[in-house]
Amino acid sequence: MVEMMRRIYLDNNATTPVLPEVLEAMRSYFGENFGNASSIHHHGQETRAAVERSRDSVASLLGCRLAEIVFTSGGTEGDNLVIAGLAGAGDHIITSSVEHHAVLHACKHLEETGCEVTFLPVDGRGLVDPEDVRRALRPNTKLISIMMANNETGVLQPVAEVGKIAAEADVYFHTDAVQAASKVPIDVKQIGCDVLSISGHKMHAPQGVGALYVRRGTHLQPLFYGGRHERSRRAGTENVPGIVGLGRAAELAMRGFERGEDKKMSALRDRLERGILAQVDEAGVNGEGAPRVPNTAGIYFDHIEGEAMVIALDLKGLAVSTGAACSSGAIEPSHVLTAMGLRGDRARASIRFSLGKQNTEEEIDVALVLVPETVARLREISPVYRKTAIST
Ligand code: PLP
Repeated sequence: MVEMMRRIYLDNNATTPVLPEVLEAMRSYFGENFGNASSIHHHGQETRAAVERSRDSVASLLGCRLAEIVFTSGGTEGDNLVIAGLAGAGDHIITSSVEHHAVLHACKHLEETGCEVTFLPVDGRGLVDPEDVRRALRPNTKLISIMMANNETGVLQPVAEVGKIAAEADVYFHTDAVQAASKVPIDVKQIGCDVLSISGHKMHAPQGVGALYVRRGTHLQPLFYGGRHERSRRAGTENVPGIVGLGRAAELAMRGFERGEDKKMSALRDRLERGILAQVDEAGVNGEGAPRVPNTAGIYFDHIEGEAMVIALDLKGLAVSTGAACSSGAIEPSHVLTAMGLRGDRARASIRFSLGKQNTEEEIDVALVLVPETVARLREISPVYRKTAIST
């Protein structure tokens, strides 16, 4: 009999598995509870009630009113809706150079249509300086968009400070909280944001659903035109099973904070990080010294190619990722790590380990065997590494 390889998934910032409780909550909405939430008959009323219960759960997770939640198809839609819906030709946007492409490319697109955009730098830890945000303000600044947590490093930006600056200047403030939701508590009032985006599949709900907090009174131009769904802010028949899943995942996230699961996750992440650094030399943590979400460890291993490491680990059953994007056949170093000042080779030698609620201590211990042996093997067969090692 062929033995199945044990697989360990440490790529939860790419996507998370749907939790069994979430799947269970969704199940009947693929079957007997199939109604269109806009229908006025029994079937519609049933699904409408489920959508509104989920809205309540998501609003509790973010600390806002029910009516301030707009369901979307995910983080990309939320980010695009905010950027295109709040700014346009003649306006000015302030954002950072380490945002997700959902924000960066939406801003670049607006730039082509006559909107001005300032892409702020970050320091070596990946942090935006709020004073840079203040200095970048112009009379026509309409929107500030600074992410809450970075997807590659987990670094948490000083969003509450940015929120104060935005409020003083009377400028809209958006934060992309896709990688923060369910990992750290979120309170939109404490952050002082007008809009905040989250995505289901980064928090153990399914892919293809998300939510946007839109502060009451914020005039958001819709992206889609059609029916009057979501108070005319997002036309289109609701993805009821997905929304139900997102609501359940929000409830589980809140219960997780009450039970201190975030602290346990950060202990597990630290165990992984310290264990790797204790066994592997010429390695370090990207974003070291900055506050970070509890699940993410971005680590560079000098003298290796990140892509080779991802493939080698995958062959051993461990799923991780690089921040690098493959464009036109060449591997581009991650824009996030480059903005933090990492050399190209070090950025390309970076691996992202990201934990989810399903990961166990035992899995981390297996990773602590696989990672050092794989780095050693890759360095051994690297002609560049050998030359460096011999000449020093
Ligand atoms: N924003 C951040 C920070 C992300 O990490 C991602 C996905 O990786 C997105 C936005 C896009 O979210 P979605 O995959 O739901 O479109």
